[in-house]
Amino acid sequence: MAGPGKVAVSALACKDCGAPMYPDMAKGGMSCAYCGHFVRFAPTDEDFTPSMTFRHQPLEIVDGFLKLGHVAIMDKDALKPPPPMERKMRRTPLDEKIRAYDASALDAINDEAYIEMNCPHCGKKLTPRLTDNIFTCPHCDQKFGDFDKLSTGDFDANLIVGRKYNFFGKCLPFHLHREDAALAVASLKRRYAGDFSDDDIESRAKEELVAAYVPVQLSDFRWKMQVKSERGTFWYYQECLDWAWTRSLMFDAYLMDELAPWDYNEISIVKPAYLEGNVRLFASQNIGDWQAAIPSFILQKNTPARLKAAFGLEKCEILQVSRDLRKHKFAFLLLPIYYLDCKKGAKESDRQTRVMVNGQTGKAAALILDGSDNDVIRTIEPATPYIFPPNGERTMLSPPTPVKYVKQPFLHQRLRIEDAFENTGGLGGFLSKLFG
Ligand SMILES: [Zn+2]
Ligand SMILES: [Zn+2]
Repeated sequence: MAGPGKVAVSALACKDCGAPMYPDMAKGGMSCAYCGHFVRFAPTDEDFTPSMTFRHQPLEIVDGFLKLGHVAIMDKDALKPPPPMERKMRRTPLDEKIRAYDASALDAINDEAYIEMNCPHCGKKLTPRLTDNIFTCPHCDQKFGDFDKLSTGDFDANLIVGRKYNFFGKCLPFHLHREDAALAVASLKRRYAGDFSDDDIESRAKEELVAAYVPVQLSDFRWKMQVKSERGTFWYYQECLDWAWTRSLMFDAYLMDELAPWDYNEISIVKPAYLEGNVRLFASQNIGDWQAAIPSFILQKNTPARLKAAFGLEKCEILQVSRDLRKHKFAFLLLPIYYLDCKKGAKESDRQTRVMVNGQTGKAAALILDGSDNDVIRTIEPATPYIFPPNGERTMLSPPTPVKYVKQPFLHQRLRIEDAFENTGGLGGFLSKLFG
């Protein structure tokens, strides 16, 4: 890394009219807000990332019945609860997790070295951080960057948490500025004031909120379940299309999952050299058994609340699960988030709060872990609703559909919930175990 004074600073100014140029990840270049002049980002390896192919398999309907062959085989592992170490994982501050996994990345991220310089545009004093790719003069609003990086698209690979060759080349660009993400945290705090009486997330967000790109793999996630409730036992089918399957253990998978829906119509090539301010970059992690287990853990956690919302059921116990995860092709990408970690110095036994904001839509979610094993997640929709393009690719959760097996091949009748409860004590329950 170049020391202070060794960085050749270059202005991001329009060569036609002199106005500041704005990097735009979605367009793949910098454009002038005044005259429209556009300069492409320098080509980098990421430009050769194959583009994604969505491989949705439409649900087949035969004689009016749903054909559910893809969720025919029950998966006993899907009922296993998370291992005890998950508790510790969820409560460990992000920086500690990064330190354990990639200490040199943490050093690079936390490098607080500043360059002292006078703004080449207005002449006033300017102190950008060495690790900021692009920075703005607070006096004249002119944007600047490291000349070498701007001209080559290179960036400091030390800033990537994990291995550079596991860093995905595609991303959803940020739409939300950090200040707007902080406002989303503030409205979350106002809405659920009682939950945050011991943690002023609003003021913390102003200082501590960080932007990050988190790796995921897009898949269609579909499942069939047998559930025991206070009104009886029943089967249902549900699917989440374009589900973001995390490829990292650095962030809480449950909290992250709450940020959906995501809009996948604007997948862009990631160009870290042209990111403004300080964005933390996470490479895909080899997370072993967690990779296959996380979808089940999320299902186990979300199912009771979803069935309560859909059918008013208070008590749901999952008896059997069959799941189908269909990965899309070249479906590796980075999602833009803002993250507020737990309070500094928090201990594992403390009540801890973490917040995430969807950097695309502005939806915010908070995770509150108390000293025992309870967790609460609170979410708030963006103040200005995000407009999803009609018919575009986006996360889509179907309503849970009660079903009953009818006949081969895997044909299921759709039912109203009232008609779906089985007589669990008698022959019906026995038969449904055989043929469900
Ligand atoms: Zn211009
Ligand atoms: Zn200036």
